[in-house]
Amino acid sequence: MALRSQGKKVAVVPTMGYLHEGHLSLIRKGKEFADAVITTLFVNPLQFGPNEDFEQYPRDFKRDCMLAESAGCDVMYAPEVIEMYPRGYNTNIHIGGVTDVLEGERRPGHFDGVATVVAKLFNASVPDIAVFGQKDYQQTLVIKRLNTDLNFGIDIIIAPTKREANGLAMSSRNTYLSTEQRENAGIIFRSLEEARREIAKGERERKIINSIIIKTLKSIPEIKIDYVASALADTLEQPETFLPGDKIVMLIACYFGKTRLIDNAVMEIPYALNEANFVEGI
Ligand code: AMP
Repeated sequence: MALRSQGKKVAVVPTMGYLHEGHLSLIRKGKEFADAVITTLFVNPLQFGPNEDFEQYPRDFKRDCMLAESAGCDVMYAPEVIEMYPRGYNTNIHIGGVTDVLEGERRPGHFDGVATVVAKLFNASVPDIAVFGQKDYQQTLVIKRLNTDLNFGIDIIIAPTKREANGLAMSSRNTYLSTEQRENAGIIFRSLEEARREIAKGERERKIINSIIIKTLKSIPEIKIDYVASALADTLEQPETFLPGDKIVMLIACYFGKTRLIDNAVMEIPYALNEANFVEGI
């Protein structure tokens, strides 16, 4: 608030901590567009299912503070669970539509938890700008809906997914992977690239696009696929055939052992046969 009263632009970067280069790129992006960046660090129990990894989720507050500061973060806001949800707390935000499928279907209550905590963090930080990662694609749609529907009036910036050298999307959960799993998990991005190449060559059928991704993923015997989907990027509708000019998103959720990984890529269906590239930072 004090910063805003001095006419400074404030950006917020909500995270669950255990920061990696993906998070830091969001902080840098915030700094590009604002005078001050607030990073929030909160492992939000509301967005974890009963059989998920809330307790095991990696935490290292000191390291996070150092990394965030090195990326240009001005203020770290790391509330305790009891501060966010004190006795008597009884509000939950549910966003319909985009939450009905994929992650929303597989993780009941997850997006309610996300929408609720992000609304609280927006109210606590009163930002002009908020930066989120494309890595959590469906979440970006939920946040945009929340921002519009509840009149937050914040500029929502979506930053591209930061990847390891083998294409694996960076994630705090990658620490659960063995060295071999981490190497093998490069197949996730390679399968998206394989689909992109086929789309560039003229493939338009949604189910065939999905089957190309599935076939590539299955070259690693250990992978258990949770879902593979391709959909219109703005609504997550899944028509049988995509049309030239459609902006689509291809989404994957899969397991390596107990570790659940997600990834996605966005692209436009080309009008002619050509090199179609992924769209980043949508
Ligand atoms: P998390 O701490 O996993 O809840 O993520 C906090 C924010 O960082 C979210 O907006 C994520 O989408 C974003 N994020 C996570 N991983 C990456 C990545 N590899 N590249 C870019 N942004 C990311």
